[in-house]
Amino acid sequence: MQTIEVNGLVFEEYLSAENIAEIVGNVAERINTDYTGKEPLFICVLNGAFMYASDLFKKITLPSEITFVRLKSYEGTATTGEVKILTPLTMDIQGRDVIIIEDIVDTGLTMHGFMHQLRGMGANSVELTSFLFKPEALKYADATPKYIGLEIPTKFVLGYGLDFDEKGRNLPALYVLRS
Ligand code: 5GP
Repeated sequence: MQTIEVNGLVFEEYLSAENIAEIVGNVAERINTDYTGKEPLFICVLNGAFMYASDLFKKITLPSEITFVRLKSYEGTATTGEVKILTPLTMDIQGRDVIIIEDIVDTGLTMHGFMHQLRGMGANSVELTSFLFKPEALKYADATPKYIGLEIPTKFVLGYGLDFDEKGRNLPALYVLRS
């Protein structure tokens, strides 16, 4: 088992770069099939999803576009999470078939709020792909991604764009915190 140390914590390899490429290829194939005849607009959620978005987008064979947002979510006392778009959307999503690209859906708070906002901006459809999904941590059922790379247990992971205190994003494999 290959392990690495980041900021004093030990992580074990969970998915190799080869496993990841296969997972991403499978998601791309499903999207290519489901959106045949359409021109989807992908929205990559920075920072974590940049690697997944890059690999996925290269495998999309449809005429399509990509744009980027940075989000901040607040866990309030109300059941609806508030999500602030830190970098404004630079593309008009009116009438578009939007596919959000996220790195990981945990409680679903961020995607619950963001998808709600996008629908309010007049998108024709809003779907979500997430490289990873933690079903046992989900609190907002409407944030369940349609296109999931892999379901994982509720454990902290890093690598492949995901960080621990901004470290580890450059790792080509995915690692899980040793328990
Ligand atoms: P949610 O709003 O679904 O609770 O959280 C989503 C965000 O939390 C992700 O975009 C990611 O930034 C962060 N996150 C959740 N779980 C993990 C994890 O296991 N590792 C890392 N690096 N970030 C995580």
